[in-house]
Amino acid sequence: MSETTPEPIPPNWPVIATILGVLFVAGGLIYGLSQDVGLLVVGILGVGVCLAVGWWLGAETTTAHLETQRLAEAAQTGGMRTSGMGRLDDTRDAIRFARAAIEASPDPVLIIDQNGRLVGTNQASRDRYSIDPGQSRFSAVIRRPNLVEAVDEVFATGESRTLSVESRVPVDRYERVSIAAFSVDSSRFVLMSVQDETEARMSERMRADFLANASHELRTPLAGIIGFIETLRGPAREDEAARDRFLEIMHLQADRMSRLISDLLSLSRIELNEHVAPTARSDFTAAVQEIVESLPPDKQSRIRFAPDGDPLWVIGDWDEIQQIAANLIDNALKYGGADSPVKIKLNGWLDRETALRLAMRDWEGASRLPLTSPELERDRLYCTLRVEDAGPGIARQHLPRLSERFYRVEETATGKSGTGLGLAIVKHIVNRHRGGLVVESEQGRGTAFAVYLPQPFELEPARSEPSLTPA
Ligand code: ADP
Repeated sequence: MSETTPEPIPPNWPVIATILGVLFVAGGLIYGLSQDVGLLVVGILGVGVCLAVGWWLGAETTTAHLETQRLAEAAQTGGMRTSGMGRLDDTRDAIRFARAAIEASPDPVLIIDQNGRLVGTNQASRDRYSIDPGQSRFSAVIRRPNLVEAVDEVFATGESRTLSVESRVPVDRYERVSIAAFSVDSSRFVLMSVQDETEARMSERMRADFLANASHELRTPLAGIIGFIETLRGPAREDEAARDRFLEIMHLQADRMSRLISDLLSLSRIELNEHVAPTARSDFTAAVQEIVESLPPDKQSRIRFAPDGDPLWVIGDWDEIQQIAANLIDNALKYGGADSPVKIKLNGWLDRETALRLAMRDWEGASRLPLTSPELERDRLYCTLRVEDAGPGIARQHLPRLSERFYRVEETATGKSGTGLGLAIVKHIVNRHRGGLVVESEQGRGTAFAVYLPQPFELEPARSEPSLTPA
């Protein structure tokens, strides 16, 4: 906050002219009536003193008025011009106090003046709405017509309002926005505060979805198991061969039920956190390498993966990026056809266009589709993980539905175990990481799934700080 000396009050020329006029007329009258020079001097002095007192009182009022104007101005600019006067200092302290209190709020807070200017923000609101320091128009920051209308309405009526706001991009978000008017002297302002209700709403939805999905999906394998138990207790009681076969099927069904529950739980957990982008740094190369090394030897021998050994940093959680790699590699091994190779390609420090091209434009003549895309972020760098198989490929019409929950492509999934949740899990992890998921496939050639994830600028090899240790 900069401090400047107060501007002097300008001379009030009309008042001065009126005083001189009044003195002149009064002098003329006194001298005309009394013809006495002494009386003339005393009279003029008397009238002069009365006018001087009146002028001084007027000047006080003018000062107070200017002071009020400065206060309004200070409130609007967020800064404060000072005079040496106590009242102004109190107000300056009050404004400083209010600004510090707003800054400390964990919820986004915005203050708007009558001209639609943003005159107050806090860190939470600057982060939430990506407000640049130069941005001053409220409507340039909040682009939702219903919020802009509500602010206008609160200015017009002075009555507070509360709105529920839902956004879908880049991830689902639920917010409660409170808008209230307040005045400083004669200037009116509006305070908008935003409460994030995503977590509460998502956990409510998660519970409902989990119950619906679990009860629906578990019913079939459970009915199978009950049927086999009845057969084993009745007609097949003495049939040893049938008993072994049925027990084997029951084991598979129970296994499927347990995988379903664990996939549904993972999905719910990721969805619950999807609006909170990760902040950790993880080495994608090491994460993929660990997944490959954990595969049984017969599967590992099918993998073609030759990392160059350099870490490939992503802004992401280790467990979640491993889950992406595990699900895509597992699918490629499962649907790629027995004994066929699975190629894993990692590339890093790419701009968005190059990342997208490397991720899904490698096979001429193939069908391709982005299954989820991040919001545009200027200058962001990405790394890509592409997993290619040499399987039967997926027909074009199935591509758009691939990351839907429980969607399985009959031609490729028949006879293969699975829950239909693997790609949905990958998609939600990628969304949370503000990355993208794409598929490229050609029947007879194979399928490639790829993800691209944001990388941290500060860890880019060319950019990182030079080492202080002598070579
Ligand atoms: P799951 O594998 O458990 O069925 P996913 O969500 O991982 O579930 O995959 C959904 C469906 O997409 C699979 O059932 C399969 O039909 C198809 N699919 C996934 N990956 C491939 C692949 N690499 N090649 C062919 N089809 C695939």
